[in-house]
Order: sequence, then structure tokens, then C-alpha cells
Amino acid sequence: GQCVAVCPTGALSEINNMHKVWAALLKHEKHVVVQVAPAVRVAIGEMFDMEPGSITTGQLATAFRRMGFNGVFDTDWAADLTIIEEASELIHRIEHGGKLPILTSCCPAWVRFFEYQFPDLLDIPSTCKSPQIMMGTMIKTYYAEKMNIAPEDILVVSVMPCIAKKAEVQREELRIGEMKDVDWVITTRELGYMLKEAGIDFRTLPEGEFDQILGESTGASIIFGSTGGVIEAAVRTAYEWITHEELTDVNFRQLRGLEGIRSAEVPLKDMTLKIGIAHGLGNARKMLEGIQRGELDFHAIEIMACPGGCIGGGGQPYHHGDFSIIRKRQEAIYREDAGKPKRKSHENEMVMKLYREYLGDPYGEKAHELLHTTYTAKEMI
Ligand code: SF4
Repeated sequence: GQCVAVCPTGALSEINNMHKVWAALLKHEKHVVVQVAPAVRVAIGEMFDMEPGSITTGQLATAFRRMGFNGVFDTDWAADLTIIEEASELIHRIEHGGKLPILTSCCPAWVRFFEYQFPDLLDIPSTCKSPQIMMGTMIKTYYAEKMNIAPEDILVVSVMPCIAKKAEVQREELRIGEMKDVDWVITTRELGYMLKEAGIDFRTLPEGEFDQILGESTGASIIFGSTGGVIEAAVRTAYEWITHEELTDVNFRQLRGLEGIRSAEVPLKDMTLKIGIAHGLGNARKMLEGIQRGELDFHAIEIMACPGGCIGGGGQPYHHGDFSIIRKRQEAIYREDAGKPKRKSHENEMVMKLYREYLGDPYGEKAHELLHTTYTAKEMI
């Protein structure tokens, strides 16, 4: 039988979908598309003897085309979409006296942990689906319509730094009707094995581009791969929406770093946004217990199960506890962000076009129907 692992360290056995992906690519019966998460591009090079922290975004796009995918998309696009929804939700909660703090919800290992461990706090997580799931939903609705392909003829493959993402796609709460948003997840390591199997010399690949309409990304979406990045991306957008002023320096350095628990205050016109960040489940538990006891007071918190965030995910090339490798991956993430012409999610033109053409208002009715989810208290059996 299949073993669905949620272990963020990757110690449990994982569902292996590599052969299914090859079979689908060889058969040509379905329209097979791929998406790749931000943290993958700063780590996969290590499997091909490249320096930790090498940025391989363009090589990945080319590698996917050579493997035969019909659509090559960037989870970063959906990370920008996630920020539009999450920043809207934060502002909505602040303005309407909603539950605070809002807790980021893109880490499925963490989501599962609090469903078991903190059932009394189920109203704090953002209801936003994670970027990998938002991308799957948009592929099987918006993209399917645009391409005139029946959603059931599309297979969505995700390349993720994460073992828990394999379990996330099995969540009943995330189905669109009967359909799964994402069909198969492979990890960074598994993609590396597949490229080796196919004899693709990753190091010498020319740089390619992702396909539009789901390929544009801003610097804000790339930093999702690091601890502190999701909340920094949300602040960049919330700042402009709350103050109605242009944010000229997008670098919120007080939110960055690798300490297990961090907090920061970001002054906005008439208020100060109080932010908490934790990574690693032990640190996360400490922070949530502080909130439960009323000792910690934040507007927004970001929690990631893996040390360093997704750059240190259980599906990444092994780093054997060497934190200097995580640090190099993290530096690469912020380097890639700094090099982008656009660094705020609401500047992603393809995401804003999606709202104009298909979704309507951010955090509106259709966005709720497609991009939001629910959480359920779960008991150990
Ligand atoms: Fe997966 Fe990232 Fe969460 Fe780790 S921190 S379990 S890699 S989503």
C-alpha cells in the first residue's frame, strides 16, 4: 500500500511517483504540466556538483521541456496569487475586528500539526490554499478554459522541496468537486534522479523561460522559499494597500535570518504591524503556546516546519545537518529577489490579469470558492 508521509525531515518513506510521471510523459494521452516551487531552484544544482546556493531557475525550465512536459509553470506565480489573497485577508481581519494573529498556511506539515495539537486555534490560520494548490486549481479551471482542454485530461505534476506536499494533495478539503488540484508531487531529489536517468546534463543546460500565463513572478514570491519570506512578501503588499503610499525600500531585513523564533514591528502610517516568525516544530509550538496563554501579541505570524523554511525541506538534496548549506540557499533566495525588476506580488501582471478576466475582486466570492479552504480538528487514532 501507499505510505503518506508528513515527516518534515524526510525520515519516513515517501510515495514515489517518478515512474507514473515518466509513463504519462511517454504516453502523450494527457496534457501533462509541471510547476516548480521557489526553494527547488536554489538547491537542485547540489545534486549535479554545483555550489550550494547556485540559482538554476532557467535550467529548470529547459530541463522540463526536454523531459516532455506540455506546460512549464512556476509555483512562484501562485505564490504571488497567494499573497494577494493573504494580504487581503489580513487587512479584512484588521478592519473588521477579525481573529488575530493571522497565521500563514502554506506549510502542510505545520497545518497538520496544528489540526492535531491546537484544535482551539483553528480560526487563526489564513484560509488561503498554499501556492502549490492554488496553482493546481488555476490550471484545472482558468488554464483549462483558456486552452480549451477538459480538466480531467490535464495532469498536474509539482516539484516540491517537501515530503508533506505529497500528503497535502490528498486532503479532501482541497478537492475541486471530485477532482484533485494536483495529481502527483515529486521532490527536488526525485527530480534530480529523473534528470540523471534521462541523461540530461543539468549543469550545461541553456536557460529557458516558463510558459505564460502561469509563469510570471516577482521577487516577493521567490522569498517564500525561506523562513520569514512569506510574511515579508505579505507585508510588501499590505504596506501599500494600507498606507496608499509607494513602498520604496522593499527589504524588511528585520524579518530575515535563521534564528528559530523572531519578532519584528513594521510601522505603517497609523499603526504598527507586529509580526512573529518561527521555524522548526519545537519553536512553532513555543510560539503558539505563548499566543494561547495570551503572552504574545501579533497581527501576523509565519510558521514553517522545516529548519530554515522550505530551503531546508525534507525533499531537498541532503545537507547532512550542515547549516552552512541552508545559509547559502537562503542567500541565493534573497539574491534572486534583489535581481528581479518587480518585487511586490501585486505588480505581477499575469496575476492581476487573472483577477480582471476570471476571479473578479481579490478575496471576493469566486476567489473564496476557488482559492480558500477549511481546517478540521483531528484526533490521533
Ligand atoms: Fe514542506 Fe516547506 Fe513546510 Fe518544510 S517548511 S514541510 S518544505 S512546506
